[in-house]
Amino acid sequence: MTGEFDLIRRYFWDASSLRDDVVTGIGDDCAVLAPPLGMELVVSTDTLVEGVHFPEGTHPSDVGYKALAVNLSDLAAMGADPAWFLLNLTLPRADAEWLSGFSKGLLQLARDYHIALVGGDTTRGPLSVTITVHGFVPQGGAIRRRGARPGDVVYVTGFLGQAILGLKCWRREIDLPEEFLPGALDRFLRPAPRLDEARVLRGLASAAIDLSDGLAADLGHLLEASEVGARVWLERLPVSPAYDSVFGSMGWDPVLAGGDDYELCFTLPPEQRRAFHGRFVDFSCGFAEIGEIEAEPGLRLIGAGGSPYALACPGYDHFAGS
Ligand code: ADP
Ligand code: MG
Repeated sequence: MTGEFDLIRRYFWDASSLRDDVVTGIGDDCAVLAPPLGMELVVSTDTLVEGVHFPEGTHPSDVGYKALAVNLSDLAAMGADPAWFLLNLTLPRADAEWLSGFSKGLLQLARDYHIALVGGDTTRGPLSVTITVHGFVPQGGAIRRRGARPGDVVYVTGFLGQAILGLKCWRREIDLPEEFLPGALDRFLRPAPRLDEARVLRGLASAAIDLSDGLAADLGHLLEASEVGARVWLERLPVSPAYDSVFGSMGWDPVLAGGDDYELCFTLPPEQRRAFHGRFVDFSCGFAEIGEIEAEPGLRLIGAGGSPYALACPGYDHFAGS
C-alpha cells in the first residue's frame, strides 16, 4: 500500500510510548512487552466493519474511538486493567485525512485509559478495523460469565437502549426533542467503556458480561454459562430521560434488545451488596438492581402488574437467518 509506512509512522508511532512496559513498540517485526509479575494476561479481539458496525459516513474519529471502546468494554467485563493493543486496518485507500481523524479518536481514548498501541497490520480492501487488546488481572481475579448463583442480585450500569436511540436519530427514524439529540448520538458513536467501575467489581461480583447485543441476549449468555436463570423486572430497567421522552413509540424492546450500549451487567452475592454500594457511589454512570438469579434456567421478564413479558426479538445476531 503506497505510503503505508509513512502514514503509520505519522499517525500511530507516538502511541507506543504511552507506557513504559513497552520495551519495543511499533516498527520492528514484533512488539516486546514486559508483563508485570504475578498478573494474568487477559486478551480479546473485535472487528468493526463499515456498513455493519458503523454507518457509512461515520466521522473517522468516531470510528477510531468506537473500535477501541468496544474492545476496552470486553476488558471491563472481565475486571481487567488495559495495557496494550494491536490495530489491524483494512483501508480502501491510504487516505491521510481519514487516518488523521481516525488516529485522533483512537488515541484520545488510548490516553484516557492508559493503553499503548504496540503494533498491527495494514492492508487494502473494504474498510474494516480489528483491534486486539491485552490487559491484566491479579491471579485468579478475572470476573467471568460463569459464577452467578441463585439468590445473587442482577445489576446493570448506566442506561439501557441509549445506542439504539442514537442510531434511530442518526437514521432520522424518530424525532427526539432537540435537547437530547447530541447526547443520544454520542452514546451511539462513543460508548464509554466501564473500566473504572469494573475494577471496583473485581473481588465483589460473582459474574459479569458487557452489553454488546442487548440485555436479554447478553444476560442470557451469562445465565447459560452459570447454569442458572433469572427474573428481571422491566420497571427497574434504567432508561434515560431522552429515552423516556419517546418511550411511547419505542416501548421496552429496544431497552432489552438494542445492541451497542456497552454497559456492564453483573451479579453480586447479597452479602457483597453493601460493600458494592459503598464503593460504587462515586461513579457518575450509576447502576440499577434489575433482578435476581434463580436456579431454574431461562430469563423471565416481569412486566406491569407482575405479568410475564415476551420480547419480540431477543438480540442482534450477525448470522441470524444466513
Ligand atoms: P511485517 O511485514 O514484518 O509483518 P509490517 O510491515 O506489517 O511488518 O509492519 C511494520 C511495523 O508497523 C510493525 O511493527 C507493525 O506492528 C506496525 N504496523 C503495521 N500496521 C500497523 C497499524 N495499522 N497500526 C499499528 N502498527 C502497525
Ligand atoms: Mg505485516
